[in-house]
Amino acid sequence: METVDGVVVVGGGSVGLLTALKLGQAGVRVVVLEAGSGVSPSSRAVAFLPTTLAGLDQLGLLDDIRKRAVMCPDVAYRRGDGSLIAKMHWDVLAEDTQYPYALLLGQNHVSSILVEHLRALPNVEIRWNHRVEAVEQDDCYVTLRTSSPGGQTWLRSPWVAAADGAQSTVREQIGLELGGSHWPERMVALDVFYDFILHGYSRANFIHDPVDWAFVVQLDQSGLWRVCYEESSSLSDAQIRQRMPERLTRLLPGAPTPDQYRVEHFAPYQVSQRCVTEFRRGRVLLAGDAAHVTNPMGGLAMSGGVLEAVHLGGALINVIKENGALSVLDEYAVSRRQTFQAFTSTRSTAYFTWMKESGWIQRTRDLAMFKRVGSDRDVMREFLLQFDKLNGRRSRSLTSRIRLVTGMAKRLVNVAAKSMSDCASAALQTIKSAHKRLHRDTSIE
Ligand SMILES: Cc1cc2nc3c(=O)[nH]c(=O)nc-3n(C[C@H](O)[C@H](O)[C@H](O)COP(=O)(O)OP(=O)(O)OC[C@H]3O[C@@H](n4cnc5c(N)ncnc54)[C@H](O)[C@@H]3O)c2cc1C
Repeated sequence: METVDGVVVVGGGSVGLLTALKLGQAGVRVVVLEAGSGVSPSSRAVAFLPTTLAGLDQLGLLDDIRKRAVMCPDVAYRRGDGSLIAKMHWDVLAEDTQYPYALLLGQNHVSSILVEHLRALPNVEIRWNHRVEAVEQDDCYVTLRTSSPGGQTWLRSPWVAAADGAQSTVREQIGLELGGSHWPERMVALDVFYDFILHGYSRANFIHDPVDWAFVVQLDQSGLWRVCYEESSSLSDAQIRQRMPERLTRLLPGAPTPDQYRVEHFAPYQVSQRCVTEFRRGRVLLAGDAAHVTNPMGGLAMSGGVLEAVHLGGALINVIKENGALSVLDEYAVSRRQTFQAFTSTRSTAYFTWMKESGWIQRTRDLAMFKRVGSDRDVMREFLLQFDKLNGRRSRSLTSRIRLVTGMAKRLVNVAAKSMSDCASAALQTIKSAHKRLHRDTSIE
């Protein structure tokens, strides 16, 4: 049996490849086992938030991603008729982060970039067409049985990172289940060529409407956009396709007819809020959709997955290369689960609920909240800084802490300077009017 003296990553989706890159760059021997024959062509997740960009930069990926991605300076919140409720500008974080913007790029492109970077590492090997079928572990090794075009293979490794997606075989083999619930409705992820910019749309837009709610976001530089909207779970895929022209006339600004747009791809899918009870069982650690799934509102699934991969990679490097205590793996497991439950799932659920709220009173309150956030840059900053919580307990980096403190100090100095200058001009004003009065009084005499 082959022994991989390092880590076997199961699943060559974005999270698995990111984990492999982090480990590979530290000199760890890594074998990635991927069931598919190459990078999945499906774009799925699109948005990479500022807090995630730091992780991608750390891995040396950011320049390549930036070249292909769409720069997203703001996020617009709109009503069903397309009119603007509020806009959140990422540049309010200019003093908090080096990356005061989001990047939009289909995760298939990100995975292709990852594969390019992995090819440069001789200690990392990706084995396409290798599906893991069975998993066993003892005190020293995890043993995996895979099926491949060449037949069945067996290999073992001291550590396995399971990133084999929502239907994870590894998770099932080690006896863990995803707990939680499904949303009753179906989500449709539709990719379409249409000129949203001509209609004044931002690169990312949340449309708030009890029926025609949607998430509209540019997918790449070719002019392809993603529209996510809801259909009833009682409809078949064929019925959803049949209803598409009528839905798009209502969902797209300018109420276009089918000859005015081109649908490239559509994927109806069920959304859930689900999570495993443990992210670590013995020598197997779970990450990405293998560990949790959430609705995609807010772009937190993929962004969280990126940070998880970086955290998991770091913890394994600590154990393998630096003789660290196994407790760092538990710290990873506990903190990522807590982050998912307390922030990722909660915030995605809030977005989902805000967008489709049908109660008039709650809806009016929500819209007022968005307007308030959109009209005050300090409140907007607080709102957008919430996304930092995706980092979990290893929250802010030292540099971003320094930036935050410097930013606060600058703001204080500005306030002090402003009040000093207000005082000075008030004093000047008083002197001037006293002088005028004196002059007037003297002239009268
Ligand atoms: C239609 C759709 C739209 C979405 N839109 C968004 C969005 O807008 N924003 C967002 O944040 N998220 C979105 N998501 C979720 C997002 O795509 C996932 O969170 C993300 O793909 C998770 O990455 P992953 O690497 O953990 O899993 P995956 O991308 O699913 O990768 C898992 C990999 O493991 C492989 N694999 C599976 N079983 C085995 C096995 N037994 N052996 C070996 N390999 C195996 C698979 O072939 C796959 O390549 C969307 C999901 C879907 C389905």
